[in-house]
This record gives sequence, structure tokens and C-alpha cells, in this order.
Amino acid sequence: MDTSDIPVLIAGGGPAGLTLAITLGQLGVECEVVDARPAPSRVPRAERCGSRAMEIFRQLGISGRLRAAGLPGEASLDVVTCAGSLARQLERHRYPSVSDMLATMLDVNDGTMPLEPPAIISQYTLEPILREVAEATAGVTVRFGAELIDYAAAGGGVTAMVHTSSRLRTIRADYLVGCDGADSTVRRVLGIEVRGEIRPPERQALIYCPDLYERLPGGRAIEYHIVGEHPCTLIVQDDTQHFALHAPMSGPPLATVFEAVAGAVAQPLGYKVVHEGEWPQHLLLADRYGNDGRVFLAGDAAHPASTPGGLGLSTAVADAADLAWKLAAIIGGWGGPALLSSYEAERRPVAAQAITASLASLARAADPPEPSAAGLTEVEFGYRYTGSPVISASRGTPPAGFQPTTWPGARLPHIWLDDGNPLHDLLGGGYTLLRMPGAAADRDSPWFVRELAAAFGRVGARLDLLEVTSAAAQAVYAGHRLILVRPDLHVAWRSGDSQPDPLDLAALVTGHSLDELRKLTAAYGGSRQPGHVAGQQRVADERHRVDERVRDDHRGRPPPAQEQHREDDPHHRITREAAEPLVEVVGAAQRGADRDRVPRAHAEFSQPGQQVPGDEDLFEQPVLQGG
Ligand SMILES: Cc1cc2nc3c(=O)[nH]c(=O)nc-3n(C[C@H](O)[C@H](O)[C@H](O)COP(=O)(O)OP(=O)(O)OC[C@H]3O[C@@H](n4cnc5c(N)ncnc54)[C@H](O)[C@@H]3O)c2cc1C
Repeated sequence: MDTSDIPVLIAGGGPAGLTLAITLGQLGVECEVVDARPAPSRVPRAERCGSRAMEIFRQLGISGRLRAAGLPGEASLDVVTCAGSLARQLERHRYPSVSDMLATMLDVNDGTMPLEPPAIISQYTLEPILREVAEATAGVTVRFGAELIDYAAAGGGVTAMVHTSSRLRTIRADYLVGCDGADSTVRRVLGIEVRGEIRPPERQALIYCPDLYERLPGGRAIEYHIVGEHPCTLIVQDDTQHFALHAPMSGPPLATVFEAVAGAVAQPLGYKVVHEGEWPQHLLLADRYGNDGRVFLAGDAAHPASTPGGLGLSTAVADAADLAWKLAAIIGGWGGPALLSSYEAERRPVAAQAITASLASLARAADPPEPSAAGLTEVEFGYRYTGSPVISASRGTPPAGFQPTTWPGARLPHIWLDDGNPLHDLLGGGYTLLRMPGAAADRDSPWFVRELAAAFGRVGARLDLLEVTSAAAQAVYAGHRLILVRPDLHVAWRSGDSQPDPLDLAALVTGHSLDELRKLTAAYGGSRQPGHVAGQQRVADERHRVDERVRDDHRGRPPPAQEQHREDDPHHRITREAAEPLVEVVGAAQRGADRDRVPRAHAEFSQPGQQVPGDEDLFEQPVLQGG
């Protein structure tokens, strides 16, 4: 029996597992994905990747590639109700195409828009691309045909048994993440229950019919709900040559249903049934998202969601994005324990909200029919991590529903900067402190910023300072002159609500108690191990490589910075060239190995309440400029 060691073992190579692997790899953390299937399968599941998931994929440098593989932006997303066959259309519900949405998104700059429209991409198209990107990411190993059969958490890690066709492997991992879908083995071994709604199963088929889309009468659509003798739903897939057919369990064979529905508009009807099966419909939520800080659940393993048009895939991708940087922080040595416990506190309520919204959407879908995920955008963007232990809480009640807000816990609203670049593209990787004009003039602000930078340096976490001069941003971020943004672009703290001690704030948002932080600082004599971080240089190389291969664009109007690698971005150069004094402080986090060798002179700056020398120089120079 083979034995191997890996920092993170991921069970399941679906959207959650592969997104987690790519993100971990880009953050320099080695991981292995094992999936029981021999290869990603061609089964119709999700055909829409929501806007928030696409924003996450954009951060990973792959949104352009995914969009290019999906349904062209100008294709109709209308939903049609028909009587008996596609020939008799009763009603058409008009919805904007992706291109229409993009045009609006480029024009509106009030924080209400996502940075990415949804992509209409079949899950069976998405998964092989994610697999390819994961396999090309340094530090990531992907093995299909490898099933996790059991594991035990003990001795500060996990020992897992993985079965392949030829052998049984033992994998020792520091962390195990169950991204193994609705019937999760990881969840079963933990003994975690799921609760919610189970609906009668349906039959489904994937049908190849290359001529049908061209012959659809009365303008095309993406979904056809057929009422009458053969009630069913026909959904156009991303290449417009395949169709998903959903029908109740009882009735004639699906091929007969398809012929009755499509034969009326396309004769002769050449088609092939590529896949036929049943799928249980359920919307369930796990009681817990893991156990003892070593084993976690993400995606359908945590919230089995198998209704069409729901948010299962988007929620799975966002789970992965939330967990990845926290695991990387712990493994990299700068994250505190509360970061890992915050995963369930942040993500479980979001899944509960998505399930409620999906149920409501299913109820509405009958009359009038809605396209997949219509009306769910609010849920996709409206959530806030308000109960999180690593978010600095605000007084009062957060605004209800989806409104652009910097309320701590919210995703930072997207803003186009004056030069046409999105502010989001300047963020991520580490924490960023946004500073609005006027902040430097505040009596305490320069001291606070300097102390906060020193405190982050003391934790070993990266903090960049970004000067935001854009009028649009100021309007949306109204009145809050300092906003602390996390690596996943959620707001961790903003000024105006509270002015915590800088060290307290740095400790809180990085998941440490003050006591732990003191111990951490005391350990800087050289005894700390750097963990499994594979090296920042490799991370930069990898980002560069992925960006080169899968250059992101918005088709039609690529803002200049999207065509550049972040390292080549003039904004980024400003950081490096003009802000050496601060980079000396915050850049220490990027030099993890140095941290353990070199005594950290700046750590002495950061005694609470102590003034740091040289503030004036620091604040004359913006660190990054987001005007
Ligand atoms: C018909 C249908 C339509 C849907 N439509 C939408 C939609 O429009 N929008 C939307 O957002 N969502 C939709 N969903 C839901 C979406 O498909 C899921 O939420 C999404 O696939 C979840 O991704 P995941 O990675 O968590 O899990 P999965 O995609 O289920 O991946 C789990 C992986 O784990 C592997 N695995 C399982 N057990 C093991 C093991 N023991 N060891 C190793 N590997 C294992 C499996 O082989 C699989 O590859 C739909 C689902 C269905 C069924």
C-alpha cells in the first residue's frame, strides 16, 4: 500500500473541489484532489454559472475562458411556454441576454452591478476546464478514478484511504475537505445529518440534436416548458446542439417525448440520446460544516442542492473561495483558529438563504416560468457575513436585501474606476485597506493606518494600502474613509462605525485572540515553522501562467488592466516603487521564510497606542492608486 503526505486532501473533483484546488494552488498551498469518477461526466446539471461565481473565477484568472466556452452572450435567455410541442408557443417571457446585461453593467457605476454577468455554461463543459486549470496549477495534483473510502482524524491530521483501480493508497493530510457531493462519504464518516426538502425524482436526458436550435420558431429561447400530453422542460445547452430534457417519472420513454415535442418543428429529426437517467430532487442543509478544525464540507456535501435553476453551483464555488484563503492562512502560519471556525459561521447561513430562495423560485417557476436563477441574483449578492467571528461588527442593523453597502461582512460593491478598471481587479491576495480622500487629514487616521500596518506585519499577514480617489467609489462607500477588505473581497471593517485598537482589529480579522498574537510574536525568534507554503515566487509565476493561458476579457470592452498581469499593472508598480517604507512593513508577510529568520524590527512599532515614526513620509505617497 502506498503512503503519501499532503497539506490538503480534497475529496471530489466537481465545481467545489476543483475551485478549492485552483485557489489553494494559486495561494501556494499544495493539495491533492481525488474523484471517484473515471473522468468528469457528460450529465446535464447546472447550465448557469452565477455572477458571484464568475467574479470568483475572475479573481482566479479564468472567467474569460469559461465565458468563451459557454453560450454566446447574445443568445436569447427567454423562457417560452408551449402547448403540446415546440410549434405552439403560448407565452414568451423576455429576459436580457448576457450581452444586454453586460451593456448595462458597463454603463451603471453605482455599486449595484456585479463585475461579471452570469455565464451560460453547461456543468459538463465547466468541469473539464476547471480540471485542466487545476492540473496546470503548480502544487495541485488531480486524480480521477480515485475514491475516498474512509478516513480517521487523529494526531493533528487526517489519515485517508483512497481506492483506485489498481491499489489502495493511504494519504496523510493536515486537512481534509469533503467536496464529494450530495452523498458525501466525508459527511457520513463525521456522522453529520442533513435536513430539508426532498421532492419526487424526475427523469432527465441529454439529447444531441444539431439541427433543432436553428429551426426553433418565433425567435429562440433557452428554456421551453411544454404543457399537455407530454409535460416536460427542454433546456438549450451551451453549444446549442445539445438539449437537456426533464420529465416526470411516469410517461413514455424520453426519446418518445422528445420526438413529440421537437418533431413538430424539425423534420426529419436527427437526434441521439447521449445520457438518460433519474435525479433525486432535494434541497438539504448539513447540521455542521466539519469537525474539530481538520475536516470540512463544501458544496453539495454541505448543502445538497439538486434542483434545476438553483444556486447549488454558485454556492459551492463561493464555499471553496471562502475556505481556501483561510486554509492557506493557517498553513502559511499567519491565520488564527477563529478563521477556520468562521467558515461554517459565514457559509452555512448563506446556504440556508439560497435554499429558501430556491424553494421560492421553484414555487414561482410553475406560473409564470422563470429562467434558471432568475430572481436569485439578490440572494447571490445580498448575503453578508454579519455573524462571523472574524468580521468587526457594526452597530445597528445591516441594510435588508441586496443593496450596495460596505457594511462589515458584505462583498465590497464593484466600482469602475475613472480609468475604466474595476476596483476589484486591484484587490485580493491579501488584505487591502482602502483609504478615501480626506482620511489622511483626519486627526487619528495616519496613526491608525500605520499602527494597523504594523499590527498586520506582526501577525505576518499581508496588507496593502489603496488610495481610492474615484468619485463613484466615494459616493457608494459614503462616509467611510477607511475600509478593510479581506482576500475574498468581503469587508472586514470600516471606519465611522467603530475605531478599534489597531492590534485588536488585526488580531480579530486574522482569527487570533490577543493572547495568541502575543505568543506568535514571542515565537519570532526562529522557532516557527513556515508550514507548507510552497513559496511566493511560485504563486506569482502560477498567476502569470494562468493569466497568459486564459486571458480574461469581457468581449467587446476589455478594460486595459484586465489585459495585464497584476505584476505588470501600473497600479501595482506604484506600490512597489513609491511605498517602500510601508512595503517594508506589510511586505514582510510576503517573505514568510524571512519572517522566521530575521527578527522583526517593526514589531516593536506596534505596541497599542504607540506612535510610529515617519508617518508624514508614508502618507504623502499613495501606496496604490485607484482613481
Ligand atoms: C439536474 C440538475 C440541475 C441543476 N441546475 C443547477 C443550476 O442551474 N444552477 C446551479 O447553481 N446549480 C444547479 N444544480 C446543482 C449543481 O449541479 C450542484 O450544486 C453542483 O454540482 C455542486 O458541486 P459540488 O462540487 O459541490 O458537487 P458535485 O458536482 O456533486 O461533485 C462531487 C464530486 O465528488 C465525487 N465523489 C463523490 N464521492 C466521492 C468519494 N467518496 N471519493 C472521491 N470522490 C467522490 C463525485 O464523483 C463528484 O465528481 C443542478 C443539479 C442538477 C442535478
